[in-house]
Amino acid sequence: MTMKFESKLPNVGTNIFTIMSQLATEHDAINLGQGFPDFSPDEALLDLVTKAMKDGHNQYPPMAGIPTLRQQISQKVQSLYGHLYNVNTEITVTSGASEALMASILAFVKADDEVIVIEPFYDLYIPVIELVGGRPVIVPMQAPTPETPRYQVDWQRVRDAITAKTRMLILNFPHNPTGINLTENDLDSLERIVQETGILLLSDEVYEHLVFDGQLHQSVARRPLLVNHSIVVSSFGKTYSATGWKIGYCCAPAAISAEIRKVHQFNVFTVTSPMQFALADYMKNQDAYLRLPAFYQEKRDRLLNGLANTKFAPMHSEGTFFLMADYSNVSNLPEAEFARWLTIEHGIGVIPVSAFYRQPDAPASNHNLIRFCFAKRDETLDKAIEKLAGIK
Ligand code: GLN
Repeated sequence: MTMKFESKLPNVGTNIFTIMSQLATEHDAINLGQGFPDFSPDEALLDLVTKAMKDGHNQYPPMAGIPTLRQQISQKVQSLYGHLYNVNTEITVTSGASEALMASILAFVKADDEVIVIEPFYDLYIPVIELVGGRPVIVPMQAPTPETPRYQVDWQRVRDAITAKTRMLILNFPHNPTGINLTENDLDSLERIVQETGILLLSDEVYEHLVFDGQLHQSVARRPLLVNHSIVVSSFGKTYSATGWKIGYCCAPAAISAEIRKVHQFNVFTVTSPMQFALADYMKNQDAYLRLPAFYQEKRDRLLNGLANTKFAPMHSEGTFFLMADYSNVSNLPEAEFARWLTIEHGIGVIPVSAFYRQPDAPASNHNLIRFCFAKRDETLDKAIEKLAGIK
């Protein structure tokens, strides 16, 4: 008898980051698409990993992460955002931010629950919601206008989308792909929403250390009211230029963390041991994350200034290592086609912003925008700018 099955995720294919990286490789293009640095992590951190392995840290570490790493995470969050998470019960080390996000959704969303997702959105959220039979409810950001040339969240729209069936609101600031940050006013609005509705927040803050122009990252962990309703997720991959290590963490009140750990325990059980020991040591040096805004701001400005001599019109990036640019002066192709054309014909790999929309091909999801990743060596950025300047 032939085996029959129905896909649980019929609409999911290979994700856009993989597709565009492959295309860039095939065409020997400069890859400013998928978000990863083209430089190595700090030598000191690499040495600590080697040392941890040689010191014998190669067997299963504790399920929630080694205590010394959770201690460092707790201290960092307290020093930056003012909230003290309990080391034993409120911090869980995960296999990248991805696993923390997935474990959080699996732990809390049941069939037919609604989950609010703000569009444009990172690609992981919706398939995971659908996997558990939940219903994503999309709230679009306000698109930029000539008067307000910035994507914005309309919190009233978010509030209006919350019903008795809403289980969770997913946030991601600094925001991939728009590069916008939350402001204190946004946190005020969120507090009002939480006060009125008691909703659970899943706050994806993987770019917490990449905020520019003297702004402070407005973590939900800054507000006691929000902390009690939030799962805060971060990624060492972004912070320490080691995206391939797939290590991150989440912080949440004890009762919420306990539920997340039930999933984590049976998903991966625990996370790579030598990296945990190395990071626990390396995190003692606060400078490694405190200098990131200046480091990445310089790269953002290099790309921004370079684009001034091209036909691309950059949008301001307040945070993350991404910057969007309008290509209306070059082409009117839909974004996915334009991104392919730029990669194949001009050797620059980028991501179409429409990929962060529910219906990437719909005209309403296409605004002639592409996303550049500027987590690259200066020479990579300079070469890319030179190529972009040649496009007439
Ligand atoms: N977060 C990365 C990006 O936005 C990609 C991660 C992935 O490839 N899954 O580019």
